[in-house]
Amino acid sequence: MALIRRLQLNTGTVKQFSGILQQREVHLPSFVYDKAYVDGKWVAATSGMTFKVLNPYDGKSLGVVPNMGEEDCKAAIEAAHAAFQEWQNTTAKERSMLLRNWYNLLVKNENELAKIITLEAGKPVKESVGEVQYGHSFVEWFSEEARRINGEVLCSPVKSKEMILIKQPIGVTGLITPWNFPMAMITRKAGAALAAGCTCVVKPAEDTPLTALALAALAEEAGFPKGVFNIVTCDRDNAPAIGKMLCESPLVAGISFTGSTEVGKLLYKQCSQGVKRIGLELGGNAPFIVFNTADVDKAVVGAMASKFRNCGQACVSANRFLIQEEVFDKFVAKLTEKMQQELVLGSGITSTSTLGPLINITQTMKVNKIVEDAVQKGAKVLLGGKQAVNVGERFYEPTLLTNVNDSMTCYKEEIFGPVAVCIKFKSEEEAVSIANDTKRGLAGYFYSNDITQIFRVAKKLSVGMVGINEGMISSAEAAFGGVKESGIGREGSHHGIDEYVYIKYLCFGNL
Ligand code: ADP
Repeated sequence: MALIRRLQLNTGTVKQFSGILQQREVHLPSFVYDKAYVDGKWVAATSGMTFKVLNPYDGKSLGVVPNMGEEDCKAAIEAAHAAFQEWQNTTAKERSMLLRNWYNLLVKNENELAKIITLEAGKPVKESVGEVQYGHSFVEWFSEEARRINGEVLCSPVKSKEMILIKQPIGVTGLITPWNFPMAMITRKAGAALAAGCTCVVKPAEDTPLTALALAALAEEAGFPKGVFNIVTCDRDNAPAIGKMLCESPLVAGISFTGSTEVGKLLYKQCSQGVKRIGLELGGNAPFIVFNTADVDKAVVGAMASKFRNCGQACVSANRFLIQEEVFDKFVAKLTEKMQQELVLGSGITSTSTLGPLINITQTMKVNKIVEDAVQKGAKVLLGGKQAVNVGERFYEPTLLTNVNDSMTCYKEEIFGPVAVCIKFKSEEEAVSIANDTKRGLAGYFYSNDITQIFRVAKKLSVGMVGINEGMISSAEAAFGGVKESGIGREGSHHGIDEYVYIKYLCFGNL
């Protein structure tokens, strides 16, 4: 089936792809889909409507996908609900094997998937390969975890009773995902949901539906039964209605969302109606602290990775660099040098570029506004500070700002762009106080070689994840998630399964 689908390439898309790719001697992705995937079928929207997927590098269309509406979403929910009746009774071993098949196919198609990610999300292909590897690591991990969703036998307080706890899948899940990690944000959720015995309706971001559809094609090839994994594509205008339906349909048991805090809060509210299970991975405002005792060279390497991966468009990106006064000048000088040496703007397809465009014009304008606001309020621009229109409309110069204070938007809000903001502090207490002075609490990082300080600060940071002398912390084995307004629940690790199971208590009496 999947092989047949692969032949149904959108010819317009191929032309576009070949136009971009031939110049750079990179081969076409061999599969790209122009239909959504519902109940094991490749389908158009009932309305026949489509929307364009744009390449953020040059704004050109890569092709079209269905612009689905409520009727299509309802059909997907019903298909997932029907499929759940059988899927919930599969054995853990059966589900594990299907996930393993999917993982093997994702590994086999690593380069093709990476090209699709680069074309629709703009990140350098090396980073896209990294995302594919990160993405399929969740499928591998949950193929293993599927077989360890064990219950418990309790110590009964009375002789006449035995008590056990079993875990059961919650049912149909609605998975709403963002564009910044178009593969990994789906597999991190769907891997856990499928392992637990849930079925899924995935609503990928409007900027990056092609990766989601490629994942569906490989899931189909892996052998998942029809209706177990569905993809509903829609544009930004239709997203609220589809999101509302997923949150409010009595056939959906739970929602998992990664995206903005604003949309997360709306979904939370909508889920309250039916008291739905909800997992939220929302925005961050990560502090990256460098103490006087730190190895500054290592801190700069960590800063580069944390700040500039995916052009700063990650919720765990360092948002505020807090540097202790003795090492401030040294850190800033070394960071400036590294940024000049290592950051090359360009198309993600070329091997020389290390920094792609921002995802769309809205995002580029947002970053521009944040920098303008800082400059107007007295920030000093050491590097960059404006759009890189010579490279493309969506590109922004790698930017370094100092003299930053708490009146500026860049101090309070997630920047989501290649803008490094450096703030000087005097004492450990001051650093922790600035770090925690935000409603967000996703990731935090610090560099120190004082073991007592390491334990103190790690405990005091109000975040869900801490990188200690490390700028890259994400891994399938670890629990990903935040505190405060950064979200609810954890993804990855064995805790990731908890979002998708109910604990049922069985009490055997009169023994
Ligand atoms: P961003 O602003 O970075 O695009 P969003 O939170 O707006 O982040 O988008 C993340 C995901 O949420 C995308 O799939 C998007 O289509 C979806 N989305 C946006 N608005 C809504 C909404 N009102 N209800 C449900 N999903 C939505």
